[in-house]
Amino acid sequence: MSRVYNFSAGPSMLPLEVLEKAQAELLDYKGSGQSVMEMSHRSKVFDDIIKEAESLFRELMNIPDNYKVLFLQGGASTQFAAIPLNFMQKNKKADYIITGVWAKKAFQEAQKYGTPRAVASSADKTFSYIPKVSKEDIDPEADYVYYCMNNTIYGTKFPYIPETGNVPLIADISSCFLSEPLDVTKFAMVYGGAQKNVAPAGLVVAIIREDMLGNAADITPTMLNYKIQADADSLYNTPPCFTIYMCKLVLEWIKEQGGLEAIKANNVKKAGILYDFLDNSKLFKSVIPVEDRSLMNIPFITGNEELDAKFVKEATAAGFINIKGHRTTGGMRASCYNAMPIEGVEKLVEFMKEFEKANS
Ligand SMILES: *Cc1c(COP(=O)(O)O)cnc(C)c1O
Repeated sequence: MSRVYNFSAGPSMLPLEVLEKAQAELLDYKGSGQSVMEMSHRSKVFDDIIKEAESLFRELMNIPDNYKVLFLQGGASTQFAAIPLNFMQKNKKADYIITGVWAKKAFQEAQKYGTPRAVASSADKTFSYIPKVSKEDIDPEADYVYYCMNNTIYGTKFPYIPETGNVPLIADISSCFLSEPLDVTKFAMVYGGAQKNVAPAGLVVAIIREDMLGNAADITPTMLNYKIQADADSLYNTPPCFTIYMCKLVLEWIKEQGGLEAIKANNVKKAGILYDFLDNSKLFKSVIPVEDRSLMNIPFITGNEELDAKFVKEATAAGFINIKGHRTTGGMRASCYNAMPIEGVEKLVEFMKEFEKANS
């Protein structure tokens, strides 16, 4: 068996141990005589899976009892509409911090349902930094403040949690979910698509403070109404059963690694190897200010588009796949989610050193 080092921004690598466990349990899940892909979502055996997944989320992320943990579908992009429909209902206003394509899409979607405002933006420098937003910048009448914590495409991450006073704070954490500890109590809601760091595609996990629920607009589609989903324990309709099962396996793996502190330490180590190299290389560089750098998505360039293309081609042939940067930014991007082993980053850096020698 030969497995590549997959630096994709998502869907992305899953821990090998998780895939092996899924393989071992595939045909006969715990003596049920069936695969999780085949079982009723109303069965006791599946109910145990979804309950266990929720309880592991609560344990690993320290989620207080007054928060709901919802398993939803439609990707992170569907929440761009669900959030204003559920929460932008009192004053029909919300403050959005625009740090990239995903935040901008969320902002544009919200414009269909009220009058959100862009409170800050880093569009002036192609989203290569995180703007400073303080409490004074926030409209106290806003129904919520929205931001994207880790910007997958650009490789930036908020080095701070915005202070919003009494205004509820909502964050898209798709590409930094479970990558380090997070103080959930600072948020009214955090959510993310699973396909970056949590599970295969097809699942969104939303963690929502209970007092936020119950004020959705009348036109809110039933499936997008968080209160209805919460009251049904995420089983209003058929959920993505197998993806939720995979999520449970990933959470068990994280627990075995020592929880989110240990995961963070490993992520800091991995990202450090690559950033150290970039900061000392004569050929490759990162364009992101040190304090705003993501641990998960690490873009880099040579400054020469032809050389970038050559690097991508040779790296791919050497087994480092999906290392091409996003089509809007060019260059390269190495996404190093939880499941990327440290050897993957070490070997990539060795390969970059060789490439630098051969091309200077
Ligand atoms: C990938 C991504 C999205 C979009 O996710 P989908 O599940 O494809 O809708 C949104 N936000 C962030 C931060 C992402 O990385």
